[in-house]
Amino acid sequence: MILWEPKLDEAAAAWKATAANSAETFFGPSASQNDLNQEYSHTNVEELVKSGLAAMFVPKKYGGRGASLTATIAAIEEVSACCASTAAIMGVYQLGAFPILLAGSESQKHHYLGELAEGRATSFALSERGAGSDAAGIETTATEENNGWRIRGEKYWIGNGGVSKYYVVFAKHLEGQGISAFLVEGHQPGVAVTEVVDKMGLRATQTSNLELDVWVPPDALIGERGKGLRLASQTLNVGRLTVSAQATGLARTAYFEASRRAVERNAFGKPLINHQGTGFKLADAATQLSAARLMLYEAAAAYDRGDSIEALAAMTKLFASEVSHDVVDSAVQIWGGQGYCWPTPVERLYRDQRIIEIYEGSSEIQRMVLTRMINRQTIQHLSTIAVDKA
Ligand SMILES: Cc1cc2nc3c(=O)[nH]c(=O)nc-3n(C[C@H](O)[C@H](O)[C@H](O)COP(=O)(O)OP(=O)(O)OC[C@H]3O[C@@H](n4cnc5c(N)ncnc54)[C@H](O)[C@@H]3O)c2cc1C
Repeated sequence: MILWEPKLDEAAAAWKATAANSAETFFGPSASQNDLNQEYSHTNVEELVKSGLAAMFVPKKYGGRGASLTATIAAIEEVSACCASTAAIMGVYQLGAFPILLAGSESQKHHYLGELAEGRATSFALSERGAGSDAAGIETTATEENNGWRIRGEKYWIGNGGVSKYYVVFAKHLEGQGISAFLVEGHQPGVAVTEVVDKMGLRATQTSNLELDVWVPPDALIGERGKGLRLASQTLNVGRLTVSAQATGLARTAYFEASRRAVERNAFGKPLINHQGTGFKLADAATQLSAARLMLYEAAAAYDRGDSIEALAAMTKLFASEVSHDVVDSAVQIWGGQGYCWPTPVERLYRDQRIIEIYEGSSEIQRMVLTRMINRQTIQHLSTIAVDKA
């Protein structure tokens, strides 16, 4: 095997095998048809719940399976290799659960994470029509009312919107005390799905716009008042690794499909792979993909050790998503005209891949995060040198 493979511990290897089994038996065979019909597959969700994959990362005491982030990454990669949409649904589960895991009360953790283990998920509702990258610019408001809050506004492109039972809604306090995160029950008057978005890729996921005008009780607040943006960014640190696993999983399939095609198809009297222009594309894909996976598994291990992953998560998301772009692009090129046509696997991968460079912080936003850190660190370093010299 040319591609680098992680050395997993026993528990992570078992999760990887479980995910591969579900992916090959259930998610892969229906992926093309669900993509064509733009159908959110409840059968796949049932399998995620039955296999334990849905809440694998949730600690056992809250109803989950207590898997490490490394195991979760390995499982998402396996699923993404067969069906990127189902892997994205797993990503949404994590994104909705992490604000609760990181800052929720014990009773919130027992209630909402326990429900996730049974398939009743929570979605992460931050983006708005006017504020995606610039999350501080959201306009959804939280006003104090009857000892709780009234939440009013619109949320855009919410993963699992309309199928999740709950939402973590980010809203700004009109009294000027920043942004907070609130738990909102989805199926109640005052929470409406205004549009199910028609997408280019990940078509077997449901992404929706929401309109909110709803009262929530005081215990709907997650963590500290006014600390919502910090919580969103801590959640996205983990989310960036989950998205990177979606990227490397689908890129792995693109690489295998491209290699197969290059060996099987002849042009000018020999297999495509024996033309240097094609062979080198595959050599680059194997190298880039191995590097992205090395980075991803090291970042997940760092998180599992309790290290800070802010910089590594941004670098990994940036690198893995752009590698997946290049690998899938090469795969379509190697498949030629057929790669452009439905239903070849690379055609779907090409569409599924593109969002990975946009959501959970676009490539530009990852570069901004890293530039800010470099600037801060360099100024600190220079001031230390200046003090030493004085
Ligand atoms: C399929 C799908 C699922 C999604 N799921 C969720 C979800 O579950 N929850 C949720 O809250 N949101 C979700 N989103 C929203 C997603 O996170 C946003 O689309 C993303 O953050 C980008 O925001 P935007 O679309 O408003 O683009 P904009 O912020 O308008 O950015 C447009 C372009 O400008 C670039 N740009 C912006 N600012 C700068 C800058 N300062 N310097 C250089 N370039 C810049 C961006 O990188 C991007 O390329 C989802 C979106 C999609 C399409």
